[in-house]
Amino acid sequence: MNTFPSDMTAASMKACRRAGQPPLTAGSLRVLVQIQEMKVGQDENYVAFLDLLASHIWETGDATEILAQVQDIIQAARDPKEPCTVHAWCVETGDHSEHYSKFIEAPTPDHFGHPVLPAGLTDFRGTTVVGLLDLDLTPAAARVRIAELRTHLDNVEALVTAAEASAG
Ligand SMILES: [Zn+2]
Repeated sequence: MNTFPSDMTAASMKACRRAGQPPLTAGSLRVLVQIQEMKVGQDENYVAFLDLLASHIWETGDATEILAQVQDIIQAARDPKEPCTVHAWCVETGDHSEHYSKFIEAPTPDHFGHPVLPAGLTDFRGTTVVGLLDLDLTPAAARVRIAELRTHLDNVEALVTAAEASAG
């Protein structure tokens, strides 16, 4: 990897881009100059970190994505992935206010490959809701729908029985 030329000014930075390197955006050039300024008086670990950061920006020509990645890493370090303390069914980790269960669906997709009867739990405002049939249902309402679906499946099976009886 080409290292960032750490003793350069803005003008010379731009002038010495390698052929084939993506152009340095104006914003990235500003960030590289700021990084140079930030290094003054810092300990060697921090300077090494800033040099590494600068070399990645130098290589890609664009600071935005690199800085976003650094922010994600810092955020992940500050926010260890603790399991949800509110709901045993929640799959979210760390600090969160919207709770989601794992979503489940019938084992067989339809003819178009779409999931059949996906279902899951959510809690956005302190109330657990059952997501079923594209509806947000109370547990009691969900039980009514499930009973209807069971009856429907019994009726489907009755059709199959009729088909078997008339087969041949
Ligand atoms: Zn949760």
